[in-house]
Parts: sequence; C-alpha cells; structure tokens
Amino acid sequence: MSKETEGAAERFERAVNRLRRELRAVAAAVTPGVEPRAEERTDDRRTVGGSMGKRFSMALTLPDTPYETAAAAAADAFVTAGWHTELRQGFGGRPLLKATRDGLNASVVAAGRALRISGEVPVVWIHASWIRPPRVAVLETLKPGHQLCVMCEGWGSCRVCEGLGFVDSRMCVECGLGMDCPDCRGTGQEPVPGAGDGR
Ligand SMILES: [Zn+2]
Ligand SMILES: [Zn+2]
Repeated sequence: MSKETEGAAERFERAVNRLRRELRAVAAAVTPGVEPRAEERTDDRRTVGGSMGKRFSMALTLPDTPYETAAAAAADAFVTAGWHTELRQGFGGRPLLKATRDGLNASVVAAGRALRISGEVPVVWIHASWIRPPRVAVLETLKPGHQLCVMCEGWGSCRVCEGLGFVDSRMCVECGLGMDCPDCRGTGQEPVPGAGDGR
C-alpha cells in the first residue's frame, strides 16, 4: 500500500511558488519592464524502493542582457531577498553566479547575448511508496470486439510490479523494466477470442 508523506505535496507547491516569485523578482530588478522568456518543468522521480518524488526547475531568459553588466544587479537582488550568493567558474570556465536559500538553488549565466536565470526545487518526496498508475482501460472505453486484458484486468501496467519496473529492488522479471503488461502491451484490452475483430 502507498503511504502519503505528510504535507509533502503542499510543501512542494509552496517551494515552487516561492522560487517562481523570487526568480521573477530578480529578473525584474535586472531588467525592469522586460518580460523574460520563461521555461518550467516538473519531473517525477522514482526510487528502486518505490518512493515517488517531484522536482521542479525553471529558467528565465532575458534577451540582450550581457552577463558582465547584469550579474552584479542580479547578485544584489538575490542578497536583498535573503539568498546566499557565490561566484563560481561554470562550464568552459565561464563565470557563474550561484544563489541558495532554504534548500532552493539558483544560478545566473550568460547564454549568448542573453542572461539566463535558472533555479530548482530539489526533489520533494511525495509518496513513501509506489502508487500504481490509473487503469488505461475500463469496460466503457473498450474498442469494439475487445475485452479487458485478462492478465492485467485493464490496468495496462505489469501485474507483478504494478508498473514500477522493480520488485524488491530487482528488475521485474515479468516485464523486464518494460513496466507495461506484456500481454496487452499496456493497452489494457485484447480482442475477444473468436469475435473476428482485430485478428
Ligand atoms: Zn494487460
Ligand atoms: Zn513488471
């Protein structure tokens, strides 16, 4: 059974909102009135033991903002907001401004002639153990001439590892990390035998 890590989802959401707010404030301090190009992504992380967590990252790109003139303003804005900053050597010896605060990480680098302010919320563990993804097929959604997969009963995920790919920290022998039900290949349904459809 799955066990929800208490308050973790809310904690994750608060951290994401705070990172968004603070990086936008830094961008606004560096180039007032310029709307940065924003990219965001949320990744799921799964451990072999079946825990599930989420990680969030975002980047704000300010066009035509040379690092040389903008980095100091960015550092000031971070420090004013209570972040700890540090100048480092980035990839290829390029300068890099690092900022950290309460477990959040941010960095400022040059991206061509643009300035890139990025940050992340490190993985927050949401579930103490694996939750099987929802069924892919139910009676109401079956294709004509099809029935629920006899092996997985419509789940679509492997019946042994429930779609995690691992059993007791070992690769699942049933699906071999395929994670889909090997019988229906993840569709959750199969042609009704003898129905003459899909053969
Ligand atoms: Zn199946
Ligand atoms: Zn499996």
